[in-house]
Amino acid sequence: MTDYSKIRIALDGPSGAGKSTIAKKIAEKIGLVYVDTGALYRSVGLYSIENGIDSEDTAGIIASLEKINIRLAYEDGCQKVYLNGSDVGNRIRTPQASKYASAVSKIPEVRAFLLQLQRDIAASGGVIMDGRDIGTVIMPDAELKVFMTATPEARAQRRCLELEEKGMPQPYEDVLRDIIERDRADREREASPCVPAEDAVQFVNDEYGIEESADYIIGLIK
Ligand code: C5P
Repeated sequence: MTDYSKIRIALDGPSGAGKSTIAKKIAEKIGLVYVDTGALYRSVGLYSIENGIDSEDTAGIIASLEKINIRLAYEDGCQKVYLNGSDVGNRIRTPQASKYASAVSKIPEVRAFLLQLQRDIAASGGVIMDGRDIGTVIMPDAELKVFMTATPEARAQRRCLELEEKGMPQPYEDVLRDIIERDRADREREASPCVPAEDAVQFVNDEYGIEESADYIIGLIK
């Protein structure tokens, strides 16, 4: 049995490529801890939503960081995010929270605020971390970097199914529009844009199911 307790895997790519589902599967199959970094940006966004700070109020969002304490915990293989002591749960999964996450993630001060937390989690190894800048900024020396994507249409279809399963269905057109807009914002922002690291393996998974995608990446890990 190979020992993966020190390996660090960076899994980046745009929203809806299936990163979290696939990363969870990989973590389960070979015994890694799955770290969802999008949940951290979503939690910073949630603080703004719950405290009446507008998504375009950059100064207000930066000032709010002083009042935010984020803690990550792993319970039964699941990541929990505590925002000022309270489990954020599904409050970070609403369309409004997605919009706010995208807005706060453009702000360099927010990225700096979350940087050390992510590096601390990665430090001990045995992790697969998904996000946008994991291979380029958070762990540029990761043992394996994968940049995973799929067409916006394929991603929108998958996201619709996921939202339906969570009991929060949304129209396909809205989801597609949202994905295209978030892609653009993630790719074009100045602070840590969502682009592949030079040494990342690029994986377009339109034709792959979850299981096949996970097995493909496990093959790379091995
Ligand atoms: O991955 P998820 O869709 O949950 O991420 C929510 C938002 O957080 C993304 O749209 C992206 O703007 C931002 N994000 C980021 N860097 C990361 C993870 C997420 O900018 N490492």
